[in-house]
Amino acid sequence: MASILCLAALFAGSLRPQQPETRLNPAVKQIVDAISEERIAATLKKLEGFGTRYILSAQDDPAHGIGAAKRWIHDELASYSPRLQVSYQDFSIKKGGRQGQVIRDVELANIIAVLPGTTEKDHYVLVTGHYDSVALERKPYTGEEQIVAEGVRRGVNESEERRYLKILPLERERGPLDFEATAAQTVAPGVTDDGSGTAAVMELARVMSAYQFDKTIVFVAFAAEEVGLSGSQVYAAQAKKDGMQIEAVLNNDIIGSDVSGNGRSATNVLRVFSASPDDSAARELARYTKLMAERYVPSMQVQMVFRGDRFLRGGDHRPFVEAGFAAVRLTSASENYDNQHTITDTFANTSVPYATRAIRMNAAVLASLALAPAPPVLNWTWSSGPNKGGHEPLLTRGKSGYDAVLHWQANTEPDLAGYAVLVRSTTSPVWEREIWVGNVTSYTMPDVSIDDVVIGVKAVDRDGNQSVVSCYTEPVLPGSLTPAEKK
Ligand SMILES: [Zn+2]
Repeated sequence: MASILCLAALFAGSLRPQQPETRLNPAVKQIVDAISEERIAATLKKLEGFGTRYILSAQDDPAHGIGAAKRWIHDELASYSPRLQVSYQDFSIKKGGRQGQVIRDVELANIIAVLPGTTEKDHYVLVTGHYDSVALERKPYTGEEQIVAEGVRRGVNESEERRYLKILPLERERGPLDFEATAAQTVAPGVTDDGSGTAAVMELARVMSAYQFDKTIVFVAFAAEEVGLSGSQVYAAQAKKDGMQIEAVLNNDIIGSDVSGNGRSATNVLRVFSASPDDSAARELARYTKLMAERYVPSMQVQMVFRGDRFLRGGDHRPFVEAGFAAVRLTSASENYDNQHTITDTFANTSVPYATRAIRMNAAVLASLALAPAPPVLNWTWSSGPNKGGHEPLLTRGKSGYDAVLHWQANTEPDLAGYAVLVRSTTSPVWEREIWVGNVTSYTMPDVSIDDVVIGVKAVDRDGNQSVVSCYTEPVLPGSLTPAEKK
């Protein structure tokens, strides 16, 4: 009996870290609580005060236009902490870009603030927004002949344009964009789009630069989102070229609106868009965002939307997804299309309390990510041979042919506590089972069909900080059959 009790005590000891991942991290909570509504309000007002931040607005005026805004954001970021490394990433857009919208060559810059990590400084997590704004001007169509001429100018042939106008009369009513008038516009406040995302980047930099994190955090305000996602394309291409290990990008675009133009309101919901497929790194980042944001900001809900962005729309997370990084878009659940890209996207039409709640959600996710171990590597990647660069999952049916046998590569963090295995049905939006398996690199689930479920693994450290879940995904082997097909 004594020996059984002894064994029981031993098991209790070894099982203690069974669910460390449900703990609140006091540092994360502190960071969330330190996000200041007053500071966010002041930032949004200041951004509105530049009049316009359109890419073709004044560069040299000290108080008006995109140049003044750029210098102010840079200097503010630099004032928060000597540990923040603030710089410009310069780029240019040529005349004629964005189907003629860019009416002259222009020099622009992203603003980047880097908070170097301690133990995993080569792993990066990004929070982003765009500081350029736009108030689009349209000109009236004067007749069908001109409408057709406009279409032909855009490169559509004449009969195709006539057919299009027959079934889509709305285009006739809206009129074509007037690029000259848009460039001449002196008012484009862009407070919600995307002053709110810029305020998120700045407030998170201010609060988080007082803390230390394992990973490196990068706070980025992009330019020229409104003209073909130009700034983020420059950043993502450079990051890919440099082999930057970007684990996550939280792109905030339009997080200041909580009542839509038709009066529908969603004051406690934030949408998170993530690109398919369902076991993609972006989708897992969305699930992580829901878990952490709702844990630390319990008054709010994350509405996961399983598509890359809003219908027919795009944002600065897209170039990152296309470059192979995990990136999601955070956006209000109630957008106001009457204010978007117009002179009424003002401070008065923006909800500071809502933006503050959304920024607190960002703080929870970003701080949790930056303190956590890296997501486990569940694949074998070929470094030579005909399959070079291709990957195969370290998941098999085992000797019996009917089990789920998981392997993964060991994480290298010194404070790692172990791993949890996660399981969900292929149609479930969220993980359904979580099994703490300890500090091991393999696990067998007898009689579990690897055809019928999605299986993932996450890494957890001794403080309970947890990584994003990695999923076992179908093999990607250049020009060859999958192992399943070979059998
Ligand atoms: Zn935007």
